[in-house]
Amino acid sequence: MADYSGGCLCGAIHYEIEGQPDERMQITCHCRDCQQITGAGHARSMGVRNDLVRWSGEPSVFQIQHEKSVVDTAFCGACGSPLYKRSSNMPDLIFFHVGSLDPESGCNWRPAMTVYTDRRQPWDELPALEVNQQ
Ligand SMILES: [Zn+2]
Ligand SMILES: [Zn+2]
Repeated sequence: MADYSGGCLCGAIHYEIEGQPDERMQITCHCRDCQQITGAGHARSMGVRNDLVRWSGEPSVFQIQHEKSVVDTAFCGACGSPLYKRSSNMPDLIFFHVGSLDPESGCNWRPAMTVYTDRRQPWDELPALEVNQQ
C-alpha cells in the first residue's frame, strides 16, 4: 500500500507516493500564480521527490514563464482539478496540491513555510501561528 495517494475530481488521474515528503517543503503560497491556479487565496502544497510518485493517467501541463524559472502547473485535462506544480529551480520535487490528496492521506499535512505573504489578499487570513513563518 502506498504511503500517500490522491487524484482529480473525475477520477481520470490518480497518483501514489511510496515514501515520505520533504518535511521542509510543506508550503503555503500566496503568489499570484497560486491564486489563479486554485481560484482561492493561496495554495497548500506538499513537496515530494519525483521518483517516489507513480501515476495512472497523464496530467495536462501548462508552463508559466518567469524571468528566472519556468513553473509547470499540472491539472486534469478532463475536469480541470489542479494536481501539482514543479519549478525549474527544483526539478526533482513535485509540489502536490494538498487538496488533491485522498482525505486519509492529506489529513496529517502541516505547513512548514509560508511564502509570498506580500501578495496575500486582505480577505485571506491565516491562523496566527502560521503568519510569521517565512
Ligand atoms: Zn479529472
Ligand atoms: Zn505560489
